[in-house]
Amino acid sequence: MPLFSDPALSTAPRRRRLEAPATSSEPLKDKALEVHRRLCGVYGCPIPYFHSLDPLSELISSLLSHRTRNADSGRAFKALRARWPDWNAVEEAEVAEIEETIRGVTWPELKAPRIKAVLSAVRARAGKLSLDFLETLSVDEARGWLEAIPGIGPKTSAAVLSFSTLRMPALPVDSHHHRVAQRTGLIGPKVDVGPSHAVLRAQLPDDWSAQALYDNHEVLMLHGQQVCFHRSPACGRCVLLDICPTGQARQAKATEGR
Ligand code: SF4
Repeated sequence: MPLFSDPALSTAPRRRRLEAPATSSEPLKDKALEVHRRLCGVYGCPIPYFHSLDPLSELISSLLSHRTRNADSGRAFKALRARWPDWNAVEEAEVAEIEETIRGVTWPELKAPRIKAVLSAVRARAGKLSLDFLETLSVDEARGWLEAIPGIGPKTSAAVLSFSTLRMPALPVDSHHHRVAQRTGLIGPKVDVGPSHAVLRAQLPDDWSAQALYDNHEVLMLHGQQVCFHRSPACGRCVLLDICPTGQARQAKATEGR
């Protein structure tokens, strides 16, 4: 994908889309629950949370992590924290200094000004550099508040609400999660990561807890990382094979070729 077509890195002001709430058929809801049940059996739910950051710190961490390995974004986040005492100081730092500090991530030259711009937008809209107030909003309201800031999309807003100390019931979808959902037929082949958030959330019960939604994201992501690989999915050892059209098609093709 060309660098500047990536919506998460665009600097253009973005109007929030008014989307109709996603709906889902009963068979797909049943399938989503079955996928969740089986993968929880493999990866062990509840999955421990990997972060306990306040929501603003989680937002910065999430911006750093875009298209970047976890180890590299984690190092960049620690470097920011080590160089400046708080996010106020980062907001006032020179872009070049931030870029130099986060140079281990993908596209530091875009992420440095983005971090400064997002911090300034939070201050302007919230009156201070804190997102703790989001806990007083509903998930939809909190996501809408965050996504009104240019550069923050559905994945980042859901990550802030789910992974931070807010522990709100939001469902992030990363590229691994998205791949597994697409191959198993939970979403269609043309549903991109952004729109998939609403579709996949609508397949899960409305009253699921933050932990249950976090588990759903984590087990689909882990499955994408450990079994349903991008290039050569290991369908032969996948617990979803009998309910996965992609896996069955691949197995049938392999059998024909013998
Ligand atoms: S059967 Fe294959 S394609 Fe389907 S989810 Fe499992 S590994 Fe992925």
